[in-house]
Amino acid sequence: MKEYTITREKLFTWLDSLARDYTLVAPVAEEETVTLFKPVPGAASVALDYANSTVSPKGWIFPQTEKMFFFNTAGGEIQLKEPATTGPAVLFGVRPCDVKGILALDPVFNGPYQDCYYQSRRENTILVALSCTTAGPHCFCTAMGGGPADGQGADILLTAMDSGYGVEVLTARGEELLVRYADLFTPAGENQVTTAREELGRRVAGQFSRRVDTTGIKEFLNGHFELPYWEELARRCLGCGICTYVCPTCHCFDIFDQARGDNTGARSRCWDSCMFSHFTRMAGGHNPRPTRKERVRNRFLHKLKYHRDRYNLDGCVGCGRCVTKCPVNIDIRQVIADLQEVARHE
Ligand code: SF4
Ligand code: SF4
Repeated sequence: MKEYTITREKLFTWLDSLARDYTLVAPVAEEETVTLFKPVPGAASVALDYANSTVSPKGWIFPQTEKMFFFNTAGGEIQLKEPATTGPAVLFGVRPCDVKGILALDPVFNGPYQDCYYQSRRENTILVALSCTTAGPHCFCTAMGGGPADGQGADILLTAMDSGYGVEVLTARGEELLVRYADLFTPAGENQVTTAREELGRRVAGQFSRRVDTTGIKEFLNGHFELPYWEELARRCLGCGICTYVCPTCHCFDIFDQARGDNTGARSRCWDSCMFSHFTRMAGGHNPRPTRKERVRNRFLHKLKYHRDRYNLDGCVGCGRCVTKCPVNIDIRQVIADLQEVARHE
């Protein structure tokens, strides 16, 4: 792995160059408490010192709403037209948990089922991650196999250091990106960046507000589908779906057609949520998850068991967003602790 440093001033120059040569998607502070990933025109728009974005950056690769194709039925023939592709992009400043979130989506859209929309954006996007410098109030990434300065899945990992940023090149794509702007980077001393990054990771993990122990949870859930605990949780849940919209690993979507009335229209897809009652309702009216109990259970089983069953990856990366946003304080960290307690009394 190659290590470099870059000064803060040169980082701004780099960002301006990236915005000129690619679609640069980066965190933008919309207001004091809202940070969102968006295409930006240059360094001046980029928020470097944010704790974590309000919604995860997965929306660049799996957009909240996207056109799948346009149709024209004039003359009795159906003609289809593909939407324009996005072209090469740099997704900049992604926190390590959100990079892991993208890794969790990969086998869903790029495994046995090949999703051309996801694949095209994923292949065209270079991931530049940014180690965390401070923990959010509900972060617990270390309990889910990650860490505040963990570069797994990124092409380049940046880490704030006294003199600017440490730069670790983790893939061939990252190397290509760096070579293109080589004059901005200075080779670092041996392990200079790794040492600083590991120290930072330990310090930030030390700020986590609670310890989360997932030991044995999946194994317990393997044998305990029916639990009175799900009813307890369901009594509190409002079914609003916020937890799934902010989550970097949730990936349910709906598909719909919009006709304009002049023989033309478009097919689109948009994020959906397993917390909604109609999500699993079938054409004949049967709903295999008829009450909130089944829906709440499904969400937590997806996070703690199903994703691991299917892909050998955690379905939760410990970003803490669902904890922050849930209007009735349903806290996945507490759910894990409660399940540990239920397991102890089995
Ligand atoms: S379940 Fe909650 S804590 Fe886990 S990845 Fe999703 S939003 Fe983050
Ligand atoms: S955010 Fe909270 S209340 Fe809303 S669906 Fe999720 S768990 Fe239920």
